[in-house]
Amino acid sequence: MRKKIIAGNWKMNLDADEAQNLFLDLLDKPFNQSDGKMTLIFPPNIYLQDFIKRNNGSLQIGAQNLNAKNNGAYTGEVSASQLKSIGCSWVLVGHSERRTQFNEDNQVLLNKIKIALQHGLNVIYCCGESLSEREQLQHKSKIKNQLDLLKAISLEEIKCISIAYEPIWAIGTGKTASPEQASEMHDFIREELTALFGSETSHSTSILYGGSCSPTNAASLFECDNIDGGLIGGAALDAGSFRSIWDALE
Ligand code: PEP
Repeated sequence: MRKKIIAGNWKMNLDADEAQNLFLDLLDKPFNQSDGKMTLIFPPNIYLQDFIKRNNGSLQIGAQNLNAKNNGAYTGEVSASQLKSIGCSWVLVGHSERRTQFNEDNQVLLNKIKIALQHGLNVIYCCGESLSEREQLQHKSKIKNQLDLLKAISLEEIKCISIAYEPIWAIGTGKTASPEQASEMHDFIREELTALFGSETSHSTSILYGGSCSPTNAASLFECDNIDGGLIGGAALDAGSFRSIWDALE
């Protein structure tokens, strides 16, 4: 059975006190991780070790990024082995902000996925099209291209990867994809995964939706067959909103 996941990407938000308060609010009422449901948070790196030590087990904690190299002269970067050594269990790869602002292409992203998996980290691999690509009806070919790097991933490795479909035009804009738009793309991603890995593995892989997901629209998105949860940005910065989105995931 594939996991249902609500993941919060805090991005470069929250100073120390604010981050502590949000973390404590989340711990306050434990998320029940049974029934194949899982809650993840991706705080900024500087908070990871402290949060991991103080976690009560109701959250899984991951990093927003990693470097594709093992170690060495890469000022400001963090490696998979360092993340693993502090007890980190997940990492985000391929977020559109990394692709566009840091020029991360498929080859770099594949290297990141590979090194994360080698160190026992689970990966959420993000894909998504821009508004102009959607308007030019290139949204499916864009996603296909982004998923193509999974050709280098084995059947064993894909078990540690979840996909997040995040249309760029919906991220942080308040313009969420309609359930029909999201559903069409999630169905397409499932088909692509089936072509790459076969039906059984494809149907065991979680596909999350991300892009202005909120307590108001979460339930209608999560009703769609191939939407297995959400990658949440803005609404993850408020414990009440994050919990409402979690509650919307049946
Ligand atoms: C994100 O950045 O992954 C995201 C989904 O952000 P938001 O929910 O704010 O659109």
